[in-house]
Amino acid sequence: TISTYKMFETDDKIAVAGSGGKDSLSLLHILTDIEKNFPQTSVYAITVDEGIKGYRDEALKYAAKNCQELGIKHEIVSFKEMYKITLDELADIIRSKEKELSPCSYCGVLRRRALNTAARQIGANKLATAHNLDDETQTILLNIVHGDTIRIARVKPVLDSEHPKLIQRVKPFCEVPEKEIALYAYLKKIEFQSIPCPYAPTALRNDLRKMLNTMEEKHAGTKFAIFRSIERIRPALETAAERERLRDCKLCGEPTSGEVCKPCQMLQKLHIL
Ligand code: SF4
Ligand code: ZN
Repeated sequence: TISTYKMFETDDKIAVAGSGGKDSLSLLHILTDIEKNFPQTSVYAITVDEGIKGYRDEALKYAAKNCQELGIKHEIVSFKEMYKITLDELADIIRSKEKELSPCSYCGVLRRRALNTAARQIGANKLATAHNLDDETQTILLNIVHGDTIRIARVKPVLDSEHPKLIQRVKPFCEVPEKEIALYAYLKKIEFQSIPCPYAPTALRNDLRKMLNTMEEKHAGTKFAIFRSIERIRPALETAAERERLRDCKLCGEPTSGEVCKPCQMLQKLHIL
């Protein structure tokens, strides 16, 4: 996958988004291993501490332990220091004020921003995330269900760097089924966190996951076929989807397609900004 999509150059400074789960820690082990053959490449790990009591604190320990074993520099960036609020506190506000969005919707947007900022601060030019084939096919179906064709075109193995402040994101595991990553982690005896997040998606994504797993069991290769189909039609989707020019958010200066970026909109909505 890495060579098919030309994900890396030999002198890349790669930040790996490491949550402490099996996927991100396996990716960290694999990229550290590959990096040994490329002395000009460097690998760092970034963990976002969303502030989820009893969950993220444990994951942080696994992330730190693995980084120590691998001799990798580990950056931790927290919601509390970036946004002045933890996800637990945010979830309380959502429960009292907000009906439509789940904590996960906020978490995803705010974590992406935190990862990009942290990667930029350490001087990385690539940000590797451990999204696997299962994640990717679920996202494709989610975007189809939401009728969001522009996002189908945009979410891909190597994301376009559309703004100088956006670190290019790459997904080396996008063609690897989750089960194979679990097997790798098991065989390599990688210690990782296995308890699920208390806010783990309960809605649509979960239903799609179950549906895809049932399909895969009955018709092996379904997930890969969905992934490949989108790969084939993406050029047409990209042409059809009008490119939105990114500019600087008028509140925080980060890249956005509108006047105010999504994280600022969300924080404003909850009266945190
Ligand atoms: Fe954040 Fe949701 Fe993932 Fe928990 S399950 S870490 S709330 S995105
Ligand atoms: Zn902003």
